[in-house]
Amino acid sequence: MRTPIIAGNWKMFKTVSETLAFAEAVKGSAVVEGVETVICAPFTNLPALTEAVKGTGIKVGAQNLHFEDNGAFTGEISGVMLKELGVDYVIIGHSERRQYFGETDEIVNKKVVAAFRNDLTPIVCVGEKLEEREAEQTKEVCKVQTEGAFQGLSKEDAAKVVVAYEPIWAIGTGKSSTSADANEVTAYIRTVLADLYDQATADVIRIQYGGSVKPENVTEYLGQSDIDGALVGGASLQPDSFVALVEGAK
Ligand code: PEP
Repeated sequence: MRTPIIAGNWKMFKTVSETLAFAEAVKGSAVVEGVETVICAPFTNLPALTEAVKGTGIKVGAQNLHFEDNGAFTGEISGVMLKELGVDYVIIGHSERRQYFGETDEIVNKKVVAAFRNDLTPIVCVGEKLEEREAEQTKEVCKVQTEGAFQGLSKEDAAKVVVAYEPIWAIGTGKSSTSADANEVTAYIRTVLADLYDQATADVIRIQYGGSVKPENVTEYLGQSDIDGALVGGASLQPDSFVALVEGAK
């Protein structure tokens, strides 16, 4: 019922020429029926990438946006600008942005609203730090972040959001959550969404797992009842590995 979604998060990697080489390498093969494929690239690569994958079925995402559509915000990029490029998705509230750029739940919410205002689909990241996990606060942290991100969203918009559950201690560390643990948290996030909206809405919202996902473990995660895809950093950077991730999601 929920279409699995594999999204590569390139973070601050790849130049335009590297992006074009990647698109050339994957465009015939990173598209599998019944799986949605998204590449979230740095802003500078988005014009070239949207052009290069046009008509292939691969969708393009940004990794951030400003919550205003325009204004005196030097160095920022808005949803209006992304939409005109043909971008469909935008990652919001990635832990690296929360940690290094001070993004709060309130800012995340304003960015989610800005995404919908510009017809972009947000991929909203939530997840706990290692010390929060050790203090058994994982569910509470995910609840607060989820409620914060969805604040004021209509049921119709909420249904389109993609949530990415990313335990921070598993991002880029090679340490992944077990599939059972990840499923327990994603299932819990769905109960939070059901409380915010209703069960039918919660049942259509896609929830990805992210944190050291690779071709060898992607099928295991996606085999879980409440995991509907993966947000992948490191393993999305090489064409072979990215194609294998998409194939593993079938
Ligand atoms: C991420 O950047 O969202 C991520 C999950 O990274 P990695 O796959 O490298 O852990």
